Amino acid sequence: MEFQYTDDQIALRRTVREWAQSYLAPKAAEIDENNRFPEETIKALGEQDLMGLAYPEELGGAGYDAISEAIAMEEISAACAATGSIITGHYLGFDALYLEGSPEQKEKWLRPALEGEKYAAFCLTEPAGGTDMTSNKTVAVADGDDYVINGVKHFITGGAHCDFLCCFAITNKEDPKHGMSCFVVEKGTPGMEIASEDNKMGIRGARTAEIVFKDCRVPKENLVGELNHGYRLALRVIDRGRIGIAAMAVGIAQAALDMAISYSKERVVFKQPICKFQGLQWMLADAATQVEAARLMTYYAADLKDHGKPFTKEASMAKLFAAEASHKVVDTALQIHGGYGYMKEYPIERLYRDQRITELFEGTSQVQRMVIAGQILH
Ligand SMILES: Cc1cc2nc3c(=O)[nH]c(=O)nc-3n(C[C@H](O)[C@H](O)[C@H](O)COP(=O)(O)OP(=O)(O)OC[C@H]3O[C@@H](n4cnc5c(N)ncnc54)[C@H](O)[C@@H]3O)c2cc1C
Repeated sequence: MEFQYTDDQIALRRTVREWAQSYLAPKAAEIDENNRFPEETIKALGEQDLMGLAYPEELGGAGYDAISEAIAMEEISAACAATGSIITGHYLGFDALYLEGSPEQKEKWLRPALEGEKYAAFCLTEPAGGTDMTSNKTVAVADGDDYVINGVKHFITGGAHCDFLCCFAITNKEDPKHGMSCFVVEKGTPGMEIASEDNKMGIRGARTAEIVFKDCRVPKENLVGELNHGYRLALRVIDRGRIGIAAMAVGIAQAALDMAISYSKERVVFKQPICKFQGLQWMLADAATQVEAARLMTYYAADLKDHGKPFTKEASMAKLFAAEASHKVVDTALQIHGGYGYMKEYPIERLYRDQRITELFEGTSQVQRMVIAGQILH
């Protein structure tokens, strides 16, 4: 693969970096400390065209390519990882509509989501079914002109703050794999209740919620795609989202590396800046190599997606590698800060907590290995 940034990608990185560093970075510690979902940021993201960056302009998106989306996600996550997670949750939340929504559904929900007027959430995970979606218990039963949804979802990013969510429910109990369907549920629909919001270790501003559906009625027009084809649809959505999580991990790792480099030039030990010690230089060199490798794997998966080629294996590899690389890089960066790195006054402490999620959501690292093995062994 020959890879050169286009002029548009270079310009986009500069614009998003400047905005993210001036708008998002100053809020990052506060939303973490206060466990606060930054409602005001949703509007600001929309104004920056970041709520639907790589989606067609005729649908309301900004018309960029997938590499540009990865670049933007990196810059946003470098400034504030919680905001990176808020955006990936939104993309997952509307992507089913983009992939299989009817023209009417696209106009009603997708367009305002891409234009930043509505915030979307992806509602799949349940207490009994995370990795194993076939263990999900939430059901949707046809009744007249409606479907009636009953069940409990948890860990839903932005669940308490979204305007609508795409909820996956069992519509054929005999065979959940071929009996799951996707429904749009709008905020305020009777029977949908936010039971609680979680108190998380990291990305605390990207609040997750437990949502209870109790006789929640949605019109039949809210079914997205074909009845009983939701399992495959959910997998397609997750597949595409993995590139975003890989980019998020790259952004966090780059931010940690930058902090470590500048700290190592300032901190004087044994009468010289610690960056003069070869032992520390090698730590930085290894970290920089990890970041660059993760970035290129992420762009390669994005490039395949842009060219309409299969990218399942490459997206899983990028997500796996970038998540584990960012773990190592953030750990190294904290080590370079010495005891100060353990203190809340230094942002590396937050990055250490924020990074961890990239190894868990949108398929854990074990699941990525399962996907990759499945692809290379078939
Ligand atoms: C902060 C956060 C935000 C989230 N946001 C959303 C969201 O917006 N929408 C949504 O629907 N979900 C969301 N999730 C859910 C997330 O995708 C799941 O937590 C994740 O898929 C793992 O599922 P689980 O937690 O049930 O773990 P489990 O499936 O219970 O896994 C437990 C452990 O077993 C391992 N394991 C499982 N199966 C295998 C196997 N076959 N081989 C080897 N190891 C295996 C896993 O890797 C893990 O280590 C979020 C989660 C978190 C923590």
